[in-house]
Amino acid sequence: MTYNKKNIEDIEVAGKRVLVRCDFNVPLKDGVITSDKRIVEALPTIRYLMDKGAKVILCSHMGKPKGAVVAKYSLAPVAARLTELLGKKIELAADTVGADAKAKVAALKDGEAVLLENTRFDIGEEKNNPEFAKEMASLAEIFVNDAFGAAHRAHASTAGVADHLPAVCGYLIQKEISVMGKALADPERPFVAILGGAKVSDKLNVINNLLTKVDTLIIGGGMAYTFLAAKGYGIGSSLFDETKVDYCREMIEKAEKNGVKLLLPVDTVVAKSFPDPIDAELEVKTVAANEIPADMMGLDIGEKTRELFADAAKNAKTVVWNGPMGVFENPTLAKGTIAVAKALAESEAITIVGGGDSAAACEQLGFASKITHISTGGGASLEFLEGLELPGIACLMDK
Ligand code: AMP
Repeated sequence: MTYNKKNIEDIEVAGKRVLVRCDFNVPLKDGVITSDKRIVEALPTIRYLMDKGAKVILCSHMGKPKGAVVAKYSLAPVAARLTELLGKKIELAADTVGADAKAKVAALKDGEAVLLENTRFDIGEEKNNPEFAKEMASLAEIFVNDAFGAAHRAHASTAGVADHLPAVCGYLIQKEISVMGKALADPERPFVAILGGAKVSDKLNVINNLLTKVDTLIIGGGMAYTFLAAKGYGIGSSLFDETKVDYCREMIEKAEKNGVKLLLPVDTVVAKSFPDPIDAELEVKTVAANEIPADMMGLDIGEKTRELFADAAKNAKTVVWNGPMGVFENPTLAKGTIAVAKALAESEAITIVGGGDSAAACEQLGFASKITHISTGGGASLEFLEGLELPGIACLMDK
């Protein structure tokens, strides 16, 4: 999917009430924000609008309150953090579209911002209820979507409001669609995609779509074993989805037909059982991918595979990575995931990391600054790689 959407610089915002959908769904522990990354990432768009003299109305969801007002999902900690980061008081409205929200919006002066309370406190949000969307839209004159992490959902605040307002994207979504859109539509080649994670079933359409785009498709993680089984290898007690063996076989054939090099693990780190607790010390050994003992399970890619995958990433011009290569939560089984993260960091290629576990791995290892683009949305970036239209982006005005 390629998008050419108007962004905040393509529309006159001075003096206008601008509703900005952010992704402030930050992790909290006992009411304290444990990572403010998502808030920090939203600042360029917010600062631009404030500097241009817009009246900025911020909104976001947090957690899953399911249409009820649940105190622990209040955006109060976000308002406090925004106030610190912007050096300007950001008031939190007591409701999303109610009397207090309306009063606080009406009191806004040019260059000021207010935060509405959690959009999911209203049952209409996730249902994309037209009345709720209309009410929210009535607070503003322009809609800016900058919540890439929620762009794959057609909710009232991510898509519904665009039925009533001129709608453009903020800098975050702009970057996501330009980097990922270019990679998929017109990549610098060789184009290599690396997929991992637990289940084949989560990535069926991603694999299918990428096989029409990439030069090399690399499959690691738990999902690799169903592919190995499809090749007729014994995989012991490794993760296995019997219902997807035929699909994997089809994909192996499709790769051949399309001239795509499909790289699967050539060796694997095995243990007698899954670590319990997940970070438990455990005895492992490395075996060839076609020699997994019947009573053992593959839990990470082996050393030869690490080299094979890392070389492919280093020799590429574009690399997209989504999903860990093994049970990376366990230090003994994290080597494959670390090797891939390192290879991307060292590669001269345009490197794109999907959200979630792979993004966290790059950040924890200190490689984030060496990656071209780390997506801010796990689910949304996967749907992008599937070639699906994202409702939160499709609803924005074309250039
Ligand atoms: P996903 O949510 O699909 O990205 O999968 C991430 C999870 O896959 C992580 O929690 C990993 O521990 C798990 N995983 C990766 N490789 C394996 C494997 N070989 N066996 C079991 N689980 C795995």
